Amino acid sequence: MKKYQGYLFDLDGTVYRGREPIPGAVALLRQLKASGIPYMFVTNNSTKTPEDVAQTLTAMDIPCTAEDVITSSMALAGYLQEKHPEAKVYVIGENGLWTAVREAGFTVTANKPDYVAVGMDRQLTYEKLAEACLAIRGGATFLSTNPDVALPTERGLLPGNGSITALLQVATGVTPIFIGKPEPIIIRQALERLGLAASDVLMVGDNYQTDILAGLRAGVDTLFVQTGVTTAEELAKVDEPPTYTVASLAEWRL
Ligand SMILES: [Mg+2]
Repeated sequence: MKKYQGYLFDLDGTVYRGREPIPGAVALLRQLKASGIPYMFVTNNSTKTPEDVAQTLTAMDIPCTAEDVITSSMALAGYLQEKHPEAKVYVIGENGLWTAVREAGFTVTANKPDYVAVGMDRQLTYEKLAEACLAIRGGATFLSTNPDVALPTERGLLPGNGSITALLQVATGVTPIFIGKPEPIIIRQALERLGLAASDVLMVGDNYQTDILAGLRAGVDTLFVQTGVTTAEELAKVDEPPTYTVASLAEWRL
């Protein structure tokens, strides 16, 4: 097995399940920390800031600082900085997206924005959708943090950002640019932050359709762990399998 110089981890289903840390993952992360092998957490959750995520992980005894986290909101802001550093942006989203866009120096406005940036918003209103729709119809580029249609919660599966995005897509006839997994944009930004080449890094995740596909598209080797959403039966049917598969991260040797 190849020795990797850096690791990328998905969160839910990989590192923890809901509020419960997954022991094999915690042990592996502590071992990576002790060995000086850098890692980053790559999450499609657009509502949290990296500080929020680091706090959650630290409370689970997982070594993590805000610098070890990249969210789809941060990746969206990074994408905007690359494409159009002076852009005016209309935002639908929660604190994670607002903070990322503002900290990157962008003006947030409904007045003739260059971009519409859409992330998960549990205070979504018709008026917010109306402003976004008019801006996109007026020529603003339509960005969405992530395509996850359903959001797992204690109540069951609730509408996720992919559903909010789909409404705007239907309303405008415009297909958005997605930033989060399975798009490679977020993985490339994580590699940049690690300062490592794609060939030296391993992407670890439980969801074939997001984590593993993102790794494949970014040219990063992938480790599929069977502690989350994709089942062994589903994995057996995919065209392009992950580089490695384990039942639990307790099996993985550095
Ligand atoms: Mg997951």
